[in-house]
Amino acid sequence: MKFYSTRSPENLVSFREAVLQGLAPDGGLYVPTEIPALPNSFWAQWKDLSAEELAVQVLAPFVKEDIPESELAELVKPVVSFPFPLVHVRGQVHSLELFHGPTLAFKDVGATFLAQTLGYFARQQAQEYTVLVATSGDTGGAVANGFFGVEGTRVIILYPSGGVSPSQEKQLTTYGGNITALEVDGTFDDCQALVKKAFLDAELKSDLSLTSANSINLARLLPQSLYYFLGLRQLTPFPEKLWVSVPSGNFGNLTAGLYAKRMGLPISKFVAATNANNVVPDFLRTKEYTPRPSVATVSNAMDVGAPSNFERLQHLLPTFEDFTEAMEGADFSDFMTLRVLETLYQRSDYLADPHGVIGYLGLRQVMVGEPEAVGVFLETAHPAKFQERIPEDLQEAVEIPERLSAFLEREKVATPMSKNWEAFRAYLEALK
Ligand SMILES: *Cc1c(COP(=O)(O)O)cnc(C)c1O
Repeated sequence: MKFYSTRSPENLVSFREAVLQGLAPDGGLYVPTEIPALPNSFWAQWKDLSAEELAVQVLAPFVKEDIPESELAELVKPVVSFPFPLVHVRGQVHSLELFHGPTLAFKDVGATFLAQTLGYFARQQAQEYTVLVATSGDTGGAVANGFFGVEGTRVIILYPSGGVSPSQEKQLTTYGGNITALEVDGTFDDCQALVKKAFLDAELKSDLSLTSANSINLARLLPQSLYYFLGLRQLTPFPEKLWVSVPSGNFGNLTAGLYAKRMGLPISKFVAATNANNVVPDFLRTKEYTPRPSVATVSNAMDVGAPSNFERLQHLLPTFEDFTEAMEGADFSDFMTLRVLETLYQRSDYLADPHGVIGYLGLRQVMVGEPEAVGVFLETAHPAKFQERIPEDLQEAVEIPERLSAFLEREKVATPMSKNWEAFRAYLEALK
């Protein structure tokens, strides 16, 4: 299997190169040359495979030219080492909980696989990779956790001083080892600008073997298909009509779901569910795609005004009819989000987080008048992760998992960094 940029289909690259590049040099996103349907031998036993076996069978077609199956079997172990339970919520609606990983959100899956993949390439090439990542909160934690202790990699996380929540900060700054946190005297945009500049510096880039852990990286996207298989196989009997609702920001999760469907997973239709950052639902209503600056909402991990994976979606679904056949759009205000978070808890005893609720709302909208349909929404984070956004009268219902409280006790170690490029450059120079 080869890969090419959405902007230049004639240049084929290997999986390894696509992962090391992250973003293609022409600014496009890497996509596979094909998404092969899984063979009958897979479907004959997919419900009985262990999570690791299933992960190998689903991912091998994409990566086997660069990663032998025996290696892949090792690399996926930490990626699927936690459960992906499907929990009945009410009526025909289920929640697919993706937050049972170490940092309590689905991003653990992609970040862990990327770390394992880079670690493998580092061993192969006897090389050390330096991963630069700017974070406004969550991504940094998932990346730190995924890479911690992976030999051949070191990670430098830039985060805005005072710009992340105290618990997020602890999840960035308390690892040590091959993880370094730089506390930047500036905003998230300043952090991102520093990272961009470092990648444009050809000498630094090659001397340090710089790579990014950006969410557009293929090694983050592909493993996200896994939990659609692992989650939906828990539905017995498998429904004739199945809606899957994906609370979306950059649309990586939804793209991975479409990949799973292409591989043969019988999902009838997706819901592209968003907060007020509704460029994609707007596109599905009007045929006009108009990226715009993001607005702040209570589901802040989805505050994206120009979804980075839209280019992959367009590639997968070339006509407007393809889009409307594949998904329906739905967007919800903060008011609705918090109100339904509350009623869902009161009526069904299910405490969702502000992102998952948007997925639930999406199902509620499309399943009206379809009594035979089954709906699954992705619960993308644990409510404790966004505790400050949960309404006051529900605070008591928020259970803080042990793995989160353990972080709060640990000691922060961060290096202060100016937002000035020369200072950051000198810091990187000294690492050579
Ligand atoms: C990143 C994130 C999302 C959005 O996922 P995309 O793949 O960017 O659409 C939704 N919910 C949570 C909790 C997230 O962290």
